[in-house]
This record gives sequence, structure tokens and C-alpha cells, in this order.
Amino acid sequence: MRVTFYGACREVTGSNILIETDGRKILLDCGFYQGYNLSEKRNYSLFPYKPDSVDFVIVGHAHLDHTGRLPKLVRDGFKGRIFATAPTKELTELVLEDSQKLIEEESRRDNHPPLYNNQDVRGVLELFEVIPYEETLEISPGVKLTLKNAGHILGSAVTILEASGKRLVYTSDLGNTPSMLLEPPKFIDFADYVICESTYGGKEHEEPSRRGEKLSQVINATIATSGVLLIPSFAVERTQELLHDIEDFCTINKCEKPTFFLDSPLATKVTNVFRKYPEFINQKVRLLHQDNNFFGLERLKITLTQEESQTIDEAPEPKVIIAGSGMMNGGRILYHAQKYLGDPKNTILFAGYQAAGTIGRRILDGEKEVRIYGKKVHIRAGIESIRSYSSHADLPQLVNWLSKMKNVHKVFLVHGEIEQQSSLAKSIKQKMAIEAVIPRQEESYEL
Ligand SMILES: [Zn+2]
Repeated sequence: MRVTFYGACREVTGSNILIETDGRKILLDCGFYQGYNLSEKRNYSLFPYKPDSVDFVIVGHAHLDHTGRLPKLVRDGFKGRIFATAPTKELTELVLEDSQKLIEEESRRDNHPPLYNNQDVRGVLELFEVIPYEETLEISPGVKLTLKNAGHILGSAVTILEASGKRLVYTSDLGNTPSMLLEPPKFIDFADYVICESTYGGKEHEEPSRRGEKLSQVINATIATSGVLLIPSFAVERTQELLHDIEDFCTINKCEKPTFFLDSPLATKVTNVFRKYPEFINQKVRLLHQDNNFFGLERLKITLTQEESQTIDEAPEPKVIIAGSGMMNGGRILYHAQKYLGDPKNTILFAGYQAAGTIGRRILDGEKEVRIYGKKVHIRAGIESIRSYSSHADLPQLVNWLSKMKNVHKVFLVHGEIEQQSSLAKSIKQKMAIEAVIPRQEESYEL
């Protein structure tokens, strides 16, 4: 079995790993690189393998940095099968449709052909084969695949591949425990090799109980100043968690104010997928909401069209606007940022990972001026962040999850910035006496 790392090497986006075994080529994820520009140049480069020679893709979860280059893979000749859970397929459809629109907008603006079109996205969906958690499938003679709950986003899966007498485990992304909406990641009893994400490999999250408290503080401060609270939010999972917390906040505070806007058509559609698959939501939340109304949608103003979105401007303050994209590298949040971030009575609240180079990261790092659509925006609004909304396991959680696996010869760390990876590699070595390798782009290992 040979493994070659083609993405998310010493960085957090672009996940793409090639496994060659038993005469088959299998890709684990095929993600987008996400930096300042929505479609970084690297997304346009040729794949370093022949897409038409790839037999299978296993998609761990629907996030764009794990799925975003699938349409290009199909456009460039891939005709094999794509394995994932049912929610991953549906969420991937929504995520790709949305990114395709943004790609088209960007290509018009920057005057180059788009990376892919709607037909390519349709082509991806036709190749999906939906499989449940916990069932082992022989995808090719001698090659077995099992998916287990990764607890990261709805339908997310840890992949177990068994072939050539080896057992390889790939986390894709591993969830933060306890997750508000999902069951925790399943422990795996043994593996020979593990490819593990490391987004927060050097950090410990805040106590999750602080999450609701901090959110309440920030909303109350917005009410007190009669300001505007912007929450750039990831459409998948983060928004639904926020909505669930806001529902709690409103129930506890019996609040009339502020007005809450969900200004993200994508997040709205994603929320409907969550309601369609209640069996993928944890038991605690299901028992509390037997009507499957997990998100208190009646409290929100949902703005789907551009015209509806513009009515938010006229709505009286205080108001809370949840809009994508989560790292501010596109989407309606940029419009609201231009309008509201210059005023000190307003606040921006980050509730998720901000990749290096994104507008979100620059604001979070304290830059006083950013350019949005070519216009200078002076940042005078308050800046807050709640790290415990992360849907990624932190250092102690990653080490704990890894330590449940017996027989591991080597761990490969992907999907993390190098400082995070070095910390995690050190901890793995100290606590488990296992070598942790941090592969560079295109490095290849015989297992
Ligand atoms: Zn993810």
C-alpha cells in the first residue's frame, strides 16, 4: 500500500491523499485550497495524477476544503465511484452548488474561465454511492472500506481502509467533544497507520460551557449599545450550533430584542438537511426536540433573496446578522462588514477557524484596515471570538482518540499549520511512543 499526500500538507485546506493498493487508486477527499481569494491558483493546477486512472474517492465530510475540487476531478476525467454517507452527499451538493456560483462570480470579476460549471457539479453527484456508518463494504477484491462517525459535522466519517494486510485509518476532520448536535467520534480499536488531522494540534479549547455564556455576553452588549453584531458563520454545523444556542438564549432571556437575521441561503438549506436526518443528531438533542425543531427557526428572519437581504439595512438596531462565509473570503458577510465594521458600537464575533490570509484572520489578528471588494474598510467595531465553537478536536482530544488505537506503527499529520502539527507530533511521541510524521506536499510512503 502506498500513500501520497497531495493537499492540506502543513496547512489547513486542500485535503487530498492518494492511496495505491491492489492495483487500485483511491483518493481520500478532494478539497479546495482556501486563502484570500476564493479560488486560489493552486485549485486550477492539473492534478498530479491522472483523474481517469482513479477508481474511487472516499469523501470524509462535506466541507469545501474536502470536496471543492471534486467537480474539477470529474471535468478532468474521473469516472469512478464516490463513497460517503447520505448527509455528506446532500451537504456536498449544497456546498458545491454554492461555491460554483462564487467561482463563477469571481471568474467574471477577474476575467478568467471558471474552474468548473454546474454540469461538472451534477457529474459529481451522479457518481456518489451512499453508505451507512459501521458497515464494511468490499469496494474491490481485497479492498475493504468502513466509515465510522467522526463527530465533526453531520454525516462526517472516519475512513478505515483494509487492503494488502494493512489497516489504514483516516480522520478527515475529527469532531470536538462534546458536540452540541452530534454523537462524539467513534473510537477505533486498532490500526497499522493513521492519517490524522491537526487543525488544533497545539491548542486546548475553552470550556464548552463558556460558549453559551460568552455568546449571551456579546448579544447583551449589542443590546446595550443598540449596535449590530455580525457573526461570519460556516453554513454547515456552526450555524446550526449557533441557532441552537440562540434559541436557548432567547428562551432564558424571554427576549424581544435583538432581531436575528440568518442571511445565508446556503445555511438555510443546510439546516433543512439537518432536520431531514435526525438519526445523525445526538440523542440528547433529539429527546429534547421530538418535533425535530432543533433550531427555533420561528425566532429568525430568514433572508433568502438579495432583495430580502437588503432589507436588513433598514431594520432597527440592535440586530444580529449571521452570514457566510465563515472566513470572510466571500459571501454576504462582506457586504455587512463594509457597512458595519467602521462603527465602534458594533461587534464582530468569530466562531470558527480563520485560515491564514483570509479577511477573517486579518481582522481577528487586529489589522486596523482591510480591503473588501477593492474598498478600504477601517475596523473600529469590537472583535470577539469564541473558540469552543470549533468543530475540531483539540490537542488533548486528538491524543486521547489516537491512544485508544492499538498496534499503530506510524501517524501522519495533515490538515494543520506547522506549529500545531509540531506540538501534536511531540505529544504523540511522548504519550504514545509512536512516530508522527508531518508530510510535505507530494511526499509518498510505502506502508
Ligand atoms: Zn471540516
